Amino acid sequence: MLPLQHYSHMQQTFLQQFKAEPQLMSVAPGRINLIGEHTDYNDGFVLPGAIDKCVTFMLAENGEADLCRVYSVDMNESVEFSLQALSPMENGGWRNYILGVAAELQLAGASLRGFDATFKGDVPLGAGLSSSAALECALATGLNALFDLGFSQVELATVSQMAEHHYAGVKCGIMDQFASVMGKKDQVFRLDCRTLEYAHFPLDLQEYQLLLLDSCVEHSLAGTAYNERRNQCEVGVNVLKHFYPETLKLRDISPEQLNAYKTTLSEVVYRRCLHVVNENERVQRTCEALTAHELPLLGSLLYQSHDSLSKLYEVSCPELDFLVDYTRSIDWVLGARMMGGGFGGCTLNLILSSEKDRFVESISAAYLREYGIQLKAYAVSLEDGAHVKPIPA
Ligand code: ADP
Ligand code: MG
Repeated sequence: MLPLQHYSHMQQTFLQQFKAEPQLMSVAPGRINLIGEHTDYNDGFVLPGAIDKCVTFMLAENGEADLCRVYSVDMNESVEFSLQALSPMENGGWRNYILGVAAELQLAGASLRGFDATFKGDVPLGAGLSSSAALECALATGLNALFDLGFSQVELATVSQMAEHHYAGVKCGIMDQFASVMGKKDQVFRLDCRTLEYAHFPLDLQEYQLLLLDSCVEHSLAGTAYNERRNQCEVGVNVLKHFYPETLKLRDISPEQLNAYKTTLSEVVYRRCLHVVNENERVQRTCEALTAHELPLLGSLLYQSHDSLSKLYEVSCPELDFLVDYTRSIDWVLGARMMGGGFGGCTLNLILSSEKDRFVESISAAYLREYGIQLKAYAVSLEDGAHVKPIPA
């Protein structure tokens, strides 16, 4: 959450930029995914939650028919555009998320008029916490309120996802935007990526907390490996279909069903499929652990997820493995795993709150010694998803 003084700064910036007062403020958070990695495109389950880091917009109608002006406080840059005939800008950076949301809202039937907006965020950019979804969902939520559009939360998530597809060129699943709008304080939710059905579960961490460690690496393999993994899952499905004709995606296969026909798959395709079917089960087992408030079980599921991603799915990297391995012998770290697509980004750690500072100090030093990289640590709590807030007086 932005400290209070940022709001007055944003308000002053709005006044300076547009010579008017903002009418409303909208907020949308970044997200974590507790467990369920590389399950989304297999029609499986994920378990995300919205975090206490968000993007905040201040907005007002400007009386114009279709002229819009948006100023990024963090970038100290602005964009001016007409609501007619929108298209992505070359090298537009953050501007394309804005244009995308305005365009996709209209495609979904919204009648927009001219507006002015300033925005600022504290979701780390490009760290795998979905600052892009936070940006899209905050604007979509703000415009929904400003123009009384009447879109549901799910529709706002979908519009934001389409903005990311068509204006940022990232063909993401629905999880990030869904989490940014549907998150609830101290809860994660199990999302069925096939039906979009969801159910919230309490994340009662007692004396423990979630801590993200950003490896600050991004290996270039990520793009090609992602496509390769998707293909391998499809190959698996195409073979398994012969034995289980109802199968559409790996989501439809249980670990027992997979193992019954193990020898019909190549060794590598088997390992990829095994990760996906087990990871789907782990999401369910994690929900049970949360319901039973069993934190050690939650921790062990996180380690299992990491090992599976690292050894079976092979989307980890030495830096992420190092960060997870470092925690294994520490009894007040209950679990850790890489989070996100892999080959870089953050690890998610379940750690005793009282040991956090000491832990960050020691693991940072060890990581620096090993890789010459200063990691970044983010403590996160789970908060409500996108909403409109009164502008502080
Ligand atoms: P992630 O979503 O994992 O953080 P992305 O590359 O998808 O990483 O999105 C990051 C991009 O989102 C940034 O490069 C920037 O264009 C935009 N963005 C996110 N937050 C802000 C912000 N506070 N101010 C301006 N642009 C932002
Ligand atoms: Mg993103």
